[in-house]
Amino acid sequence: MCIRGQALIDGQFVDALSERSFASVSPIDGATLTQVADCGPEDVDLAVAAARRAFADGRWAKRAPAERKTVLCRLAELVRAHRDELALLETLDMGKPISDSTSIDVRAVANCFAWYGEAIDKIYDEIAPTPSDTLALVTREPLGVVAAVVPWNFPMLMASWKVAPALATGNSVVLKPSEKSSLTAIRLAELALEAGVPQGVFNVVTGWGPDTGQALGRHMDVDGLFFTGSTQVGRHYMQYAAQSNLKKIGLELGGKSPNIILSSYRDIRHAAETSANSAFFNQGEMCTCPSRLIVEESVHDEVVEVLVARSKAFVPGHPLDPATQFGAMVDESHTTRVMEFVAVAEADGARLAIGGRRVCEESGGCFIEPTIFDEVRNDMRIAQEEVFGPMLSVIPVKDVDEAIHVANDSPFGLASSIWTDDLSTAHRASRELRAGLTYVNCYDCDDMTVPFGGFKESGIGRDKSLHALDKYTELKTTWIRLGQ
Ligand code: NAD
Repeated sequence: MCIRGQALIDGQFVDALSERSFASVSPIDGATLTQVADCGPEDVDLAVAAARRAFADGRWAKRAPAERKTVLCRLAELVRAHRDELALLETLDMGKPISDSTSIDVRAVANCFAWYGEAIDKIYDEIAPTPSDTLALVTREPLGVVAAVVPWNFPMLMASWKVAPALATGNSVVLKPSEKSSLTAIRLAELALEAGVPQGVFNVVTGWGPDTGQALGRHMDVDGLFFTGSTQVGRHYMQYAAQSNLKKIGLELGGKSPNIILSSYRDIRHAAETSANSAFFNQGEMCTCPSRLIVEESVHDEVVEVLVARSKAFVPGHPLDPATQFGAMVDESHTTRVMEFVAVAEADGARLAIGGRRVCEESGGCFIEPTIFDEVRNDMRIAQEEVFGPMLSVIPVKDVDEAIHVANDSPFGLASSIWTDDLSTAHRASRELRAGLTYVNCYDCDDMTVPFGGFKESGIGRDKSLHALDKYTELKTTWIRLGQ
């Protein structure tokens, strides 16, 4: 397999103009996979200019929605046809188990392109109910040049949640993947060319956040910038926009999601097992990771016992082994950061119930055991800060009132959940939990049809569903005077 690390600008693979590059290192064993172009502001200028030319001449924007649909559905088919190759790239690059890359990531990417492709020729604009001597058309117009900046935890999927609706609505795109996981973004854009997305419409610039990302964020000819990543970096993008051309900004940011288990749920074992599965899925490197488990005291001991037992199923293993359920952390620096939280939590008085060690160091890779802290208070750092690793905090509470209070006592508001068989409590929680997503008696539901995003410091705007199309379009009103 040829692994490409060049940028893709105006339909051509190119090195950075500076000729600088950096190594893409696999977290599985520390091996260098390839060199990746280290794009600077001058490369970003070229990509944005190519995207602008493509938008201005209408080679994509002016195609009938049905034609864009055909191309996007073809891209979905190409993603399916290259499933194994894309899954392998994703796993080598960021360390998730190959079984997840294959059955979750690649499949979801293909579905995403097919879904927006299928949707786009079924959406009508509006005629407003104005007086009869006028006609007022309310149409959705593409923004123009859209930049997408994405993280490394689901590299290709996070890119697709932005690129698919942006392309479906006729925009030109410049995508910047994370410097920790650039490879599938490049390959996806290459497949898009093969599917028939015209040159210049979907560009990829690789590089580091403070250089490449910032250059996009401050660019005067980018009309909208849509970011997924940490809350800290999301703040930078708001500043970049404010200090440049006030480009439209969308932010999908971090989380510290509360997961409430109440004694009124009929099957505490099931609730606790599902909670552990969700907390340790993708090595805990998940924005919606239910990392704060808020449990009613009367069922606390049973919950912790099941959590600890279930965590033992997540044995760190070689990500390319199809049997592995729990892979490598994305890289060395993130591994170090996650491990620092073990000492932080213990110093704050949390009790280590299981895990807490870096393992398999002889492999040269980045592996951490699933880790559970009990007797956590919500004001501890382990409960307030996003760890983005396999670390679960258990916070005992007296009753549902305290549970909801603790759940909302966080700067974040991405996901939340509650386990109860009491209908009124479920409805109350669904209203009172301040989060973009609330799960009742589940944690793993997912579908393209529903919006995804956060309240509070977890973001602005929504990915997925038809609502995402609002991000990539401007509403335009056209008044027409009829007769005299
Ligand atoms: P990050 O914020 O460090 O990086 C995200 C992107 O921003 C990368 O492409 C990076 O190169 C770029 N970047 C970094 N510093 C920058 C700077 N100073 N200026 C401009 N760009 C910069 O996040 P990450 O570590 O890649 O991903 C983990 C974070 O992403 C977590 O906080 C997680 O919760 C969040 N996330 C959110 C969602 C969601 O939908 N809400 C989904 C996945 C991940």
